[in-house]
Amino acid sequence: MKFGTKAVHAGVEPDPSTGAIMTPIFQTSTYVQAAPGDHKGYEYARTQNPTRDALQSALAALENAKYASCFSSGMAAADVIIKTLNPGDEVISVNDLYGGTYRMFTKVYARFGVKFRFVDLSNAEDLKKYITPATKLIWVETPTNPLLNIVDIQAISAIAKASGILTLVDNTFATPYLQNPLDQGADIVMHSITKYLAGHSDVVMGCLITNSQALHEQIRFLQNSCGAVPGPQDCFLVLRGIKTLHLRVRQHCINGKAVVDFLKNHPKVEKVYWPGLTTHVNHEVAKRQMRDFGGMISFTLKGDNIDEALKVLSGTHLFALAESLGGVESLIGHPATMTHASIPKEEREKAGLKDTLIRLSIGVEDPEDLVADLKQAIDAL
Ligand SMILES: *Cc1c(COP(=O)(O)O)cnc(C)c1O
Repeated sequence: MKFGTKAVHAGVEPDPSTGAIMTPIFQTSTYVQAAPGDHKGYEYARTQNPTRDALQSALAALENAKYASCFSSGMAAADVIIKTLNPGDEVISVNDLYGGTYRMFTKVYARFGVKFRFVDLSNAEDLKKYITPATKLIWVETPTNPLLNIVDIQAISAIAKASGILTLVDNTFATPYLQNPLDQGADIVMHSITKYLAGHSDVVMGCLITNSQALHEQIRFLQNSCGAVPGPQDCFLVLRGIKTLHLRVRQHCINGKAVVDFLKNHPKVEKVYWPGLTTHVNHEVAKRQMRDFGGMISFTLKGDNIDEALKVLSGTHLFALAESLGGVESLIGHPATMTHASIPKEEREKAGLKDTLIRLSIGVEDPEDLVADLKQAIDAL
């Protein structure tokens, strides 16, 4: 089955009691049993909920996987994976990591004795230098946030696997429409569903997806034991959102290209970060592992003047100044003061994240209007 068909149909069966084509919102905390232990597979809603089950099946299908588990946020999903580790275990992670993940690693789990290294993995071979006998997990984002670096999933997973180490890919930026990391050798996919999968800026949710039954059982155990599950209403909204995932991401990509073509020719713009540019160091890897290049774009202004960047950020009308990404509406953000403020300036600059960097999440509006909005904001400098 092709992707669009899966997006519309996967996981969703007409409701057996009414024929309702959409899975109902099972807003219940418990389920009545006919006799002790005699139930229909549902006992308590932290453990199982039919609306969540439908969503988990749909998400697994989109990543060509067997198992998916949903959580109350992307961070709650990430949290569960780190809880599978023990004190002394090491995690090797890309160095321009999502700010919230960096914060959780360094401010929460470092205290419990889990060790984290943040390194540049744009050359996959470099991974070998960092692996020690204590390394248990490689944590990859690709494209990364906000510099749109590309990591070679196939190469990284192969190196990790040879040492018995698991690879997790945070696939939030790419979405399963553009990239399926499990098909390329990764063991676990994580999504902040909050972004493209939900797609309408109205839900916070996360998930973990895998083909390994052993990993799935660990994840399910922690999902139920620690309890960061999403509510059924949110699961319904995401089920509705993913029915148009392929249509939305296609348009995000078309619009992204139009905005990049405008930015790269503007005299005030210093550098554009987007994996679809042939000048991107890992453009060839992106071409191989992604179906298109997405709607996340970052750029810097010439002159290193943070005030000019701040002026552009408050000068757009269509692009709303906000954190987050992946919704139908276009957003503009300033990583240094917003999403990445929790990463110390020194660490940010080591990872190449300048204070004049502006990040765009390109929505599905008409590309001409988006370009005109950016043009007036940058021309006003
Ligand atoms: C937003 C985001 C997260 C965290 O997800 P929440 O749903 O906000 O908890 C993790 N990784 C990436 C790449 C993100 O963009």
